[in-house]
Parts: sequence; structure tokens; C-alpha cells
Amino acid sequence: MSGPLEIVFLSSGSSGNCAAVRCGGTLLLLDAGLSVRETDRRLRACGATLDEVRGVFITHEHSDHVRSAADLAVRKGIPVWATAGTAEAARLPGPLLADIRILPRGGEVAVGEILVRAVSTPHDGVESVCYRFSDGAGRRIGVVTDLGHLSDEVVEALAGCEVLGLEFNHDVELLRTGPYPAFLKRRILSDVGHLSNAAAAAGLRALVGARTRAVAALHLSRQNNTPALAGRAIAEALQELGVRLPLEVGAPDRPGRWTTTNESDRSHEVPS
Ligand SMILES: [Zn+2]
Ligand SMILES: [Zn+2]
Repeated sequence: MSGPLEIVFLSSGSSGNCAAVRCGGTLLLLDAGLSVRETDRRLRACGATLDEVRGVFITHEHSDHVRSAADLAVRKGIPVWATAGTAEAARLPGPLLADIRILPRGGEVAVGEILVRAVSTPHDGVESVCYRFSDGAGRRIGVVTDLGHLSDEVVEALAGCEVLGLEFNHDVELLRTGPYPAFLKRRILSDVGHLSNAAAAAGLRALVGARTRAVAALHLSRQNNTPALAGRAIAEALQELGVRLPLEVGAPDRPGRWTTTNESDRSHEVPS
């Protein structure tokens, strides 16, 4: 039975990234930045379980994205997808131990009712990507975090998605004047670091389309950002565009669910 394509952000930010994407009977995970136990707990709070997961799609090897990837593959027998560079850098287990699948370059992978496309991202991982998920009716969810700038390739792939998850990592002023060491500030601000509120808000001009129903602000820095600052940046950008969309701003411990077909329904929000 085919159902609406939907996503639940189970956790977002440097403490761990993980989202569940579902369409009908197909359930996938995007990144594995929580422990196996915590992933299962948060899935159950949303009415799903790890046993239903048909695949895990990894963006890159940084620990907030791959923490339980090997465990999910070896202990739970779940296929884990990654680029060749990420699989190697994350030291994912070899083929005798686990079902690790290498993403075809520029290609798409179909798992059950969901079509997954990996798009390369400008970040300081070895071969980092973001993902766009589509259903049979062409409805799309695009999620991109951990990128220094919005490249043409990312914009082209994610523009007009019904649901957009976009990194709003830091407020540039808070980061500049904050406690981080100089090398780390340079890394975050670089072309392959993380996206600022201002850069992400500017990107909405190209990303929000006529079919876009919701925008979720992801991967907020606890030190260098606040939900209020990110929310204001998005609200201003959307006002400029003349659109009103439901927003989800930086809720790392409060799963938020978005579907590609219904108006946002806050009653779907699941307490962690
Ligand atoms: Zn990250
Ligand atoms: Zn990263």
C-alpha cells in the first residue's frame, strides 16, 4: 500500500543526526548519529521500529552522522548505503560482516517505494553527500546539512521539494565573537564548513518553489546559534518571497514530522 512520503527528524545537530523517511511500507533512515538504542526508542515514539528499517543512507563520516552505522549493519543486519569515500573514512565493516552498499556516482537507488538520489555537498568530509527522496508520484523531500555553501548542484537537486530540511548552523556574529578556537571558526566559516543563518535564508529564494509545503531548520549549533535567530532569518526570507510555510526550527530532541501531501500538522509532533 502506498502512503504519503513523510519524514520525521529524530535528532539534528552535533549531538547526533538521524531522520526517518517513510512511504507506505518502506522505512529508511537518513544518517545514524544516535546510538542503536536511542534510534529505536525515538522510532518507537513515532510508531515505528528498527526492524522495519530497509536501509540507512549516510551523508558523510563525521561522528555525529555515523555513530551507530556499523552497529546497525552488523548487529541489526540493515543495509547501509554510503559513497565509497565515506564508507572507507567511516571504517564501515567489510562485505563479510555487513551489508554495506556503495552509492553509484550521480545515480539513484530505489528501495521499496522510495527513490533516493545522492547529491555531492561542499563539506570537509572525504566524499560527502545529501539526499533527495521521492515517491512514485514524484513528491520529494530534500535534506541538506553540513555544507559550506549552497552549490549549484545542491540547489538544482533540492529546488521545489515539497519538504525541505536545510542547515541553519550558526549566526556569523555569534560564531565570530564566541568561544570557539580560531582554527575551528575558520573551518566552520569556510566554503566547505557549515551554512550560516544568512546563507541558508538567502538560499531559500532558490529552494522554495510552488510545491514547497514546509521548511525545517536543521543542525543548529548550540554555541553559535539560537532557534530564535534561525527562525527570524527564515521568517524574513519567506516574507520577502511572499510565502507562508510551516517551519520547524532546530528541535534536536523533539522529533518533528512532515509529510509531502498534508498541511503541516503540529498534532503529529511526537514528544521524545
Ligand atoms: Zn554534522
Ligand atoms: Zn560534518
